[in-house]
Amino acid sequence: MKMLLAGEWVDRAKAIEVRDPFDNSLIDTVPRADAADADKAMAAAAEGFETARRMTVYDRAQVLFRTARIVEGRLEDFATTIAREGSKTIREARKEARRCVNTLTASAEEAKRIQGETIPFSSFPGGEKRRGYYERVPIGIVLAITPFNDPLNLVAHKLGPAVAAGNSVVLKPATVTPLSGIKLVEAFMEAGLPPLIMQVITGYGAEIGDALVADPRPRMISFTGGVEAGLRITKLAGLKKIGMELGSNSPVIVWRDADIEWAAETCVSGAFWAAGQNCIGVQRIYVHRDVYEPFRKRFVEITRGYKIGDKLKEETDMGPMITEGEARRLEGWVREAEKAGARVLAGRRREGALLEPTVLENVPKTAKVHAEEVFGPTVNLYQVDDADQALAEANGIAYGLHAALFTRDVDMAFKLAYGLDCGGVMINDSTDYRLDSMPFGGVKNSGLGREGIKFSLQEMTEPKVICWYLPKS
Ligand code: NAP
Repeated sequence: MKMLLAGEWVDRAKAIEVRDPFDNSLIDTVPRADAADADKAMAAAAEGFETARRMTVYDRAQVLFRTARIVEGRLEDFATTIAREGSKTIREARKEARRCVNTLTASAEEAKRIQGETIPFSSFPGGEKRRGYYERVPIGIVLAITPFNDPLNLVAHKLGPAVAAGNSVVLKPATVTPLSGIKLVEAFMEAGLPPLIMQVITGYGAEIGDALVADPRPRMISFTGGVEAGLRITKLAGLKKIGMELGSNSPVIVWRDADIEWAAETCVSGAFWAAGQNCIGVQRIYVHRDVYEPFRKRFVEITRGYKIGDKLKEETDMGPMITEGEARRLEGWVREAEKAGARVLAGRRREGALLEPTVLENVPKTAKVHAEEVFGPTVNLYQVDDADQALAEANGIAYGLHAALFTRDVDMAFKLAYGLDCGGVMINDSTDYRLDSMPFGGVKNSGLGREGIKFSLQEMTEPKVICWYLPKS
């Protein structure tokens, strides 16, 4: 596929191969952009912004509605692209494609609700004889940098609000999974978005990232990815607004009165969705000791029933990790935990990029699978005796995106929900739930700012005050 720069779909002499992590088959190639391409993308986006800011809200919303309909009409093609270039099974990929339609539709709807308010200028002496208001105006060029694990919907979470707000946007998708994002940009073009408003540049973050991030033309960087790249970006960005959607290491508390069958079922799904490469995936489960044994038994049984392998087969429950290197990395972390005393209850074997869904207990706090973001198919079980211990353990890490708890006791639910230090708490569900229009983001190393269309629109617009001095009033 080609990249879209300055209104033209272009190739480059150097190409990057996009391969299926399951069998390493070649799917396609994309251009390997360089710093000169980054400059070209920004120059075109600066021109595109002049068009974008003049588009009526009606026109922006219509483009977004049309793009949503185009994606909806090609759901299976989008799902197959997601499933082939990434880790998701075809069933998981279909869900992502459907969510992308929701994200674009919500962007179209929210475009019509970008509102300001009147300002009571006379509320302090000196403000008399003034009347006015503020509007929210487009921020400018948005640089959107996206990760591999939701290669379509996380791109839609940036392109949708950027267009709704009246901005132009430069998209740099993840190098291992660029195809779904490029197809989404094609859909925007078919829907009639003036071309200079959107650029997509493909290339390694390590090669073109600094040129994009340090460029003074974007007014905002909207980044979703890991802490390491996120920190580098914040250091280089200069005077720009920054949205950081980073990783996590999500905890779940299963209280003694929980529905054990449901908790086990939904937490297994939450741990192994997208082969665990999910920023809100379940990583640590704290179970009240009264129900630890039955929960552990059911959790391990369901995990052992998982079918892993070919992502395109309907019956497959879990596919490979994104690369063999990533699977080896996590296999090493599991071995490290075992050496330090952890017990493997299920899984652990690896073949190529396929790592079996792995359940651990007795994991020491020093182990990486406890303290770091695993971003893969491993999960730890722990016994707890009381709510304060559960909260201290759940909060005892450097991340805080989502947390979850299972109980039928309303008082306990409130105590735990308010005690958990994170961006969102799911009650009687796993951490792996997100509605595309809810505020989404984290505390601590999980990031800065919130996405979720209405909230992204706040970030991607800024207030402009209009104040009249009326001496005769
Ligand atoms: P990543 O390695 O941080 O890469 C994310 C994006 O940043 C890619 O497009 C990457 O390009 C680019 N990049 C890397 N270095 C860069 C640099 N120096 N300057 C500019 N861009 C740079 O993350 P990933 O492995 O794709 O994704 C996994 C991470 O994303 C996990 O930590 C996960 O939790 C997080 N995540 C967070 C959310 C959320 O909403 N909070 C959602 C999904 C994922 P290349 O691909 O070319 O390296």
